[in-house]
Amino acid sequence: MTTHRMGEMTTLEIADTVPSQPIVLLPAGAFEQHGPGLPMATDLIRAERVCAQVADLAGGRALIGPSIPVGVSPHHLAFAGTMSLSTTTFAAVVRDYLLSLHRHGFRRVLVVTGHGGNNAALTTVAQDLLVELPDLELAWTPLTTLARTEVAALDPSEVHGHSGEAETAQMLTLAPELVRTDLLEPGTTTLDQFDPVSRVARTHGQPTLTLPYDRLSKNGVLGDPRRVTPEDGEAIVQAIVQRITTFIQDWDTA
Ligand SMILES: [Zn+2]
Repeated sequence: MTTHRMGEMTTLEIADTVPSQPIVLLPAGAFEQHGPGLPMATDLIRAERVCAQVADLAGGRALIGPSIPVGVSPHHLAFAGTMSLSTTTFAAVVRDYLLSLHRHGFRRVLVVTGHGGNNAALTTVAQDLLVELPDLELAWTPLTTLARTEVAALDPSEVHGHSGEAETAQMLTLAPELVRTDLLEPGTTTLDQFDPVSRVARTHGQPTLTLPYDRLSKNGVLGDPRRVTPEDGEAIVQAIVQRITTFIQDWDTA
């Protein structure tokens, strides 16, 4: 049996891989509302399925470690079912995963996060570990922002993002069985639909003004998820998989 998933391997099989220093992929997600049409685990599902494709292409040079299923989602807590870790808890979980991997001899880890709310905490963990584990190389990557060109090609709504065109398209190709296509509906799609403060926040981007999603969108959606197809999603996913795979190949031979 050949598997790249550490959870399906035995301790002896994992020990055998350490001398060749494969890169360990950690899929990270969120457990948060994704509007009326997408499931809570949307970000984790996308991260896990992208990691599976990357590991297949990497031909044994990448292993998939355990997932981090709950992320930093305080901005979605007004919506039923959302679970959130504080930034300090999330950072501590990631750090403990890394200490364990490091103890067993792994020195290169790539966290693949489907949830942008995890980005800031991943940056601080990486900074702290430069001092604590100087021989560990920690990389992290988001998903959708790796495919800017493909997302722009969708000609998305003026306001788009969470549970909108790009994210729904990815789910239509990666996990179509979980998309309630009959329930997909637009959320906030234009800047003039925002309240004045939200409009300032979303018009500028930076300086960053963090607001809760129940203020940005009644149904939790930014954009119009009805406008996209599985083919749109496949173009985005393939761009993401290609970029991560190329990074791994360059890193592995550096
Ligand atoms: Zn999401």
